[in-house]
Amino acid sequence: NGNATALACRDISVNYGVVAALADVSVDFAEGMIHAVVGQNGAGKTTFARVAAGIVHPDKGTVEIGGKPVPVGNVGRARSAGIEIVHQSFALPPSFTVAEAMEFGAEGRGALYSRRDLERRWTRHLDALGVRVKPRERIRDLPVETQQAVEIARALVTDAKVLILDEPTAVLSPSGIDNLFERLKVMQANGVTIILILHKIREVLSIADTVTVLRGGKLVEGPTLTTEIDAPRLAASIIGTT
Ligand code: ATP
Repeated sequence: NGNATALACRDISVNYGVVAALADVSVDFAEGMIHAVVGQNGAGKTTFARVAAGIVHPDKGTVEIGGKPVPVGNVGRARSAGIEIVHQSFALPPSFTVAEAMEFGAEGRGALYSRRDLERRWTRHLDALGVRVKPRERIRDLPVETQQAVEIARALVTDAKVLILDEPTAVLSPSGIDNLFERLKVMQANGVTIILILHKIREVLSIADTVTVLRGGKLVEGPTLTTEIDAPRLAASIIGTT
């Protein structure tokens, strides 16, 4: 059902001293879509993603995943509820092997998979991402695009329902971006709701079903269907000339 809400954030505020990183942000992301969140540097995109993933405890506001309230500021509870994040600077220790990375991914959700089951799962996700690596290879020895694929597979190994990627295109070449976008569409077809933090309008309009704009910590647009907004209007909304 495309109308169900995968992630709902209500009245989220985050203050860092006198800086309001987020001010009363409320947004509902529909299930099964690819959603983009855009804004200029400092608009609050990363803070928003981290609140949704339970990493940042907001000063105010609530989060619901799959229609159920999730206690804020609790990564374990957020992951159990089915949300995962891949950070802009990858989070897996570079000295980890691929197998260690996947065990790390499963543990956070208290999942009890046998080693064989886990390997079957991560192999399936890495295959879907078009990547072949050996379990004993170390993260630091892999090309950056493969490292990103391992991060994504790590996030999906416990069958996350909502996947947030924070500026995933920043580390990729143009062909790497095309490849990632193709893979994300396959994930979407498999039922994963995807939230992409992006900053290029062209990328937003080429991949996302909806776009949400943050400016100065406030929600100023969205989620708006990308079929209902064009590049000039989106640019104006991001910069604040609307
Ligand atoms: P970028 O594209 O540069 O990553 P962003 O849209 O993701 O920007 P955030 O990183 O969420 O924006 O930052 C929003 C605001 O909050 C900025 O003014 C930033 O300086 C501030 N901020 C973010 N994290 C912290 C922190 N840990 N301590 C103090 N201020 C912070």
